[in-house]
Amino acid sequence: MIYGYNGKILHVDLTTRKFQVEEPDEAFYRKYMGGSALAMHYLLKDMPAGVDPLGPENVLVLALSVLTGTAVSGQSRMTAAAKSPLTGAIGDSQGGGFWPAELKFAGFDALVIKGKSEGPVYLSINEGKYELRDASHLWGKITGEAETSIKEELGDNKVEVLQIGPAGEKAVRFAGIFSMSNRANGRTGMGAVMGSKNLKAIAVRGKKRPVAADKAKLSELAKWGAKNLEDSGIAGLAKYGTAETTGANQTSGTLPTYNYNSGVFENWEAIDGTTMYDTILRGAAEGKQDRQGRDTCYACTVRCKRVVEINDGPYKVDPHYGGPEYETTSTFGNYCGIDDLAAISKANEICNKYGMDTISCGATISWAYEAFNEGKLTLDDTDGLDLTWGNADSMVKLTEKIARREGFGDLLAEGSERAAKKIGRGTEAYLITFKGQEAPAHMPRVKRSLAVVYATNAYGADHQTHEHDPAFEDDFEFYAERMAVLGFTEGTEARALNKEKIDFTVATQQMYSAMDSLNLCQFVYGPAWQLYGPSDMVEVVRAVTGWEDVSFDELQKVGERRLNMMRAFNVREGLDRKNDVLPEKLFKPLKGGASDGWKIDRAEFESALDMYFERCSWDVETGIPTRSKLDELGLGWVADQLA
Ligand code: SF4
Repeated sequence: MIYGYNGKILHVDLTTRKFQVEEPDEAFYRKYMGGSALAMHYLLKDMPAGVDPLGPENVLVLALSVLTGTAVSGQSRMTAAAKSPLTGAIGDSQGGGFWPAELKFAGFDALVIKGKSEGPVYLSINEGKYELRDASHLWGKITGEAETSIKEELGDNKVEVLQIGPAGEKAVRFAGIFSMSNRANGRTGMGAVMGSKNLKAIAVRGKKRPVAADKAKLSELAKWGAKNLEDSGIAGLAKYGTAETTGANQTSGTLPTYNYNSGVFENWEAIDGTTMYDTILRGAAEGKQDRQGRDTCYACTVRCKRVVEINDGPYKVDPHYGGPEYETTSTFGNYCGIDDLAAISKANEICNKYGMDTISCGATISWAYEAFNEGKLTLDDTDGLDLTWGNADSMVKLTEKIARREGFGDLLAEGSERAAKKIGRGTEAYLITFKGQEAPAHMPRVKRSLAVVYATNAYGADHQTHEHDPAFEDDFEFYAERMAVLGFTEGTEARALNKEKIDFTVATQQMYSAMDSLNLCQFVYGPAWQLYGPSDMVEVVRAVTGWEDVSFDELQKVGERRLNMMRAFNVREGLDRKNDVLPEKLFKPLKGGASDGWKIDRAEFESALDMYFERCSWDVETGIPTRSKLDELGLGWVADQLA
């Protein structure tokens, strides 16, 4: 008897239209557990180095974990991984909703998709059966329309649809993969990869619920979460959404503003989560937003997702397309000096309709705003759009032009790094990119470990790959019990980038990496402020899988294994320590607020990189994983590839 997972992985070759069902043994599931680690196994085994990310040789893996679809909060998530068309390195992106659980109910733990279909198709999976169907009539449709058409065609309103929008079809380099028209595997351009394969959508439906080994224990853990939510560190996030953090970031000077030139935004209150809750969340006018304006993922008690509805004014917003997260209010808002929440919500709607990552899209636009304000771009470059800081209307129009690859938008659809290279004129100085991917809205000049993580992370800057510095600084005492599980008994001083901070960074990075392999939501599980801590995570894995001897250390090893495989993938593509660099802007001081004058020191950063590679047991000079480390992780076959 297997618990939690199906034991089946579906391989799809779109070129030959052939399918194969693989049934790996339990040892395989225990080694990788699912999600990102499992995806890395197939990418390294099945894809040669040096392929064109938008060519048929790229392999797209969509993977669940041994926990997906079980009756506990924060488990309905899916990893999308392939070679990234944005960075040329490994691409990896996590997304939630109901599609992940439904794929599990439909009978599979992962899809490994190869080749390229001759014409547009969609994949339908129903109760363990699968077929490719014509999607010519869906090509060009926005997400909401395509979703409705597929449900009607399959005659089942309960089908869950994962898809790309027109941006993925047109290979916008930061196009994402979407479900429910508002849940995104947003980062690293996985939607462009899916589009390059002529795969419009994957519709799933099933009734086979995964069985937990210890149902009573799992139910106890689930009930504990529901009961303790209000008193937990995520009560505010649940009620006000991730944009609740805007105020705290403003206070600490970590709110990236005017394209990362400042850590404070004078009009932050106009775009924060509480304003959204009070004004534009669905049902706010009648005080019913807690019921109507908050959405969830399968079986999650937190309900942090936003549903925004605007029926009048210049920016009407359809609630079907959800509402903005903090990253979205920040990149389209403070990055661009924009304080219009309705305009930001409209940009979010456009991204969800056309299928684009809001972080890269907003940050690319903010790069253009700085270039325009510094006189490096003119109205002739921007199709007449006035990109003066704070111009909300131009931001909304530019978002749509990018999605459609029209005029100036066609250039920005390549991402800010390629656009800067093409434009020149010194605009490279305004880039905030890491391995070609635009930075999210968390400030490395204040939270210093982010400088090391953004620079070294295999898929470019990402804010969800380790626990941020405050948990190891001023806030340490609040999380002491959970931190002890990771081996820490005390924190360090604010803004330190010392050995202790690097140890904390790597340990929490391994935990987050394990969560991306178990496909657990990082608002629900984590080492600090989250609803469940590290010990609870172990309990959930035991209760679902029946692996009674699973320990926290074993989960950390899964996380470490994934990090090593990702690094190895990049080494195969020719990347090493020379690519672990920071944008020049981060060495310049911030202006204004609590972080006025703060910057990264070059020598301190290089020394922190040395400590980081040492701690990872990677070669310090090159940043390449050593054979002994790979052997220790059961990855001798990966070491052979590197040799
Ligand atoms: S916390 Fe929010 S994003 Fe995470 S699983 Fe729950 S509803 Fe989804």
